Amino acid sequence: MNTAVRIDPETGLKVFNTRAAKASEKIAGKGYSVVTDQKLTELPEMPAGATFNAEEQAKYLAFKEARRGAADYMAMEGEFKKYLDDVYSEPPIPREALDDECEILVVGAGFGGLLLWQKLSQAGFTDVRFCEKGGDVGGTWYWNRYPGIACDVESYSYLPLLDETGYVPSMKFASGFEILEHCQRMAQKFGFYDHCLFHTTVEATTWDEASGRWIVETDRGDKMRARFVVMANGILTAPKLARIPGMEKFKGESFHTSRWNYNIDLSGKRVGIIGTGATAVQAIPELAKVVGQLYVFQRTPSSIDVRDQRETTDEERETWAKEPGWARARRARFARISEVRAAVLANDDYLAGKIQDFKERKKHDRELSREELMQKQLDSSFRLMEQIRARVDAIVKDPKTAAALKPYYPYGCKRPTFHDEYLPTFNLPHVHLVDTAPRGVSEINERGVVHEGVEYPLDVLIYATGFQWMGTSTFNRIRGRNGRTLTEKWETEGTRTFLGLHTRGFPNLFIVTGPQGGGGSFNFTDVIYAHADYLVWVLQTMRERGARIVDVRKEPEDKYAEHCRVVDLATAPLRDCISYYNGEGKAAPGSLAYYGGRQWDKYRMEAQSSLAPYVFGGDPN
Ligand code: NAP
Repeated sequence: MNTAVRIDPETGLKVFNTRAAKASEKIAGKGYSVVTDQKLTELPEMPAGATFNAEEQAKYLAFKEARRGAADYMAMEGEFKKYLDDVYSEPPIPREALDDECEILVVGAGFGGLLLWQKLSQAGFTDVRFCEKGGDVGGTWYWNRYPGIACDVESYSYLPLLDETGYVPSMKFASGFEILEHCQRMAQKFGFYDHCLFHTTVEATTWDEASGRWIVETDRGDKMRARFVVMANGILTAPKLARIPGMEKFKGESFHTSRWNYNIDLSGKRVGIIGTGATAVQAIPELAKVVGQLYVFQRTPSSIDVRDQRETTDEERETWAKEPGWARARRARFARISEVRAAVLANDDYLAGKIQDFKERKKHDRELSREELMQKQLDSSFRLMEQIRARVDAIVKDPKTAAALKPYYPYGCKRPTFHDEYLPTFNLPHVHLVDTAPRGVSEINERGVVHEGVEYPLDVLIYATGFQWMGTSTFNRIRGRNGRTLTEKWETEGTRTFLGLHTRGFPNLFIVTGPQGGGGSFNFTDVIYAHADYLVWVLQTMRERGARIVDVRKEPEDKYAEHCRVVDLATAPLRDCISYYNGEGKAAPGSLAYYGGRQWDKYRMEAQSSLAPYVFGGDPN
């Protein structure tokens, strides 16, 4: 008897048993360690007289321009498809293909899917089905299990549903392994597993005007109909590889960081890692503890800020045990911090509600113009980056290595990183920084990586080369009204959404944390909460009105998309470098992320009170 799918006799709904992550026990790890050496957990003093003058500006510009056009990535197709294999689960649980209907179909079982389920079910929406590519819940935290993985937003504000599950993270910055366990905890507690089809990738989502339903097809042969579809499949989901001539020739072992192959024993081996983004920064110190020789192939250095990891204190545990809703209140305080750095350093007294503000406010005797404000921000970004560069000199002993590790771009232009062990790692005799700036690694052969005529023989090559931003690949498989795909719409009209969640011509489709999704907080979990609450509101509103279909009008969508473009342009000087945040310098303003998204709430509240942006349809069946 196939127990993967059964019918609940009470509700008549299908109950699934497709979780396959039985092999995950052998993968265990930790994130940031507590570092007690104070020299490593504090930034050096601001260098005297640091100003972002013409000379420094020219240096930033040269650094940026040298990299223009260097980014060349490819999807994992053909012979590279093997890098996508799910190394964390047992083979998929066999099940029949589904040819049926549900009310709400959600793509993704990460934070977005899990939180949506908790909120939807609480609001009485229970005919909800989830499709997830992996063998268990977790999304990002399912796929990314490299050694050293941890969150960079303090875990007390980042982990969802702490109040509801009664869980308190063990560390201020919890390891990815602990976060994955928390995802499993949320899934168990709220009965998520019964609703999820694991190892199921949605391949096509097509609107059927006649029935007022989406037809969702998967790689398991399913053809399901759903009244509503929610895309909760993340913004950095599809891993990518740098396209490097000769990579197919390499005879050693190789993998991408998002499919860490724990079956390969790295101890004592010659290991190379390509890329030095947020992933590599966390993985490199842990790799260095195990391997024989480590070669780090860097094109652009990350900014390495302090981490200052700590354990959760007994006092915190005791206080929070007596304060229901402590995590919600803390997350709300966290959301009020607008500067990235102030947010990540997360002043405990402020977040615990012991003091009113997280910094001293300077009073200006007159209102500053937009230009003056921008200049002030650029100056303070420069000074902070000077401290970050001074930190490299203070820690890294070899001057050539130190020079290569210094980033020249505004703070936050590339994803800022935080670590107290990363820089000291480059003082170890078996760790070698190979500076491939500004064009990157350009050749791989059977034995290893070749750069500027020097061959680096390797046993194992690790690609820390990141992910496709906003996974637009899924959008070309969403076909809305008049047979138009979402990709076609955005390619011809530019990225156009209302609140990031709706896009006209794609009724009853919601995109969670997608382009223009705003939310206005550095804490992504906050954005997910805002989107989940909004979605529940839309569905409840429709229920109350007897509406079956919701789309948005052209004018509010155009206005909102224009708002995103203007905000993006206004803040562009703060992100003047080549980064995946701006499509490697090629993205149209406002098309990717929604910078300065603090007005998202204003647009949302206006829409919710007037209902003017919406077109509700009353399909009777
Ligand atoms: P990433 O930031 O996109 O980094 C890719 C790296 O590969 C970059 O350093 C890039 O250099 C390098 N690269 C590409 N082609 C190359 C070549 N031919 N030669 C040498 N280097 C090359 O990817 P990621 O580190 O996986 O991080 C992705 C995102 O995931 C992060 O930005 C963050 O949002 C998220 N993340 C979060 C956490 C956390 O919360 N703790 C941890 C890890 C990741 P260039 O910079 O020159 O392009």
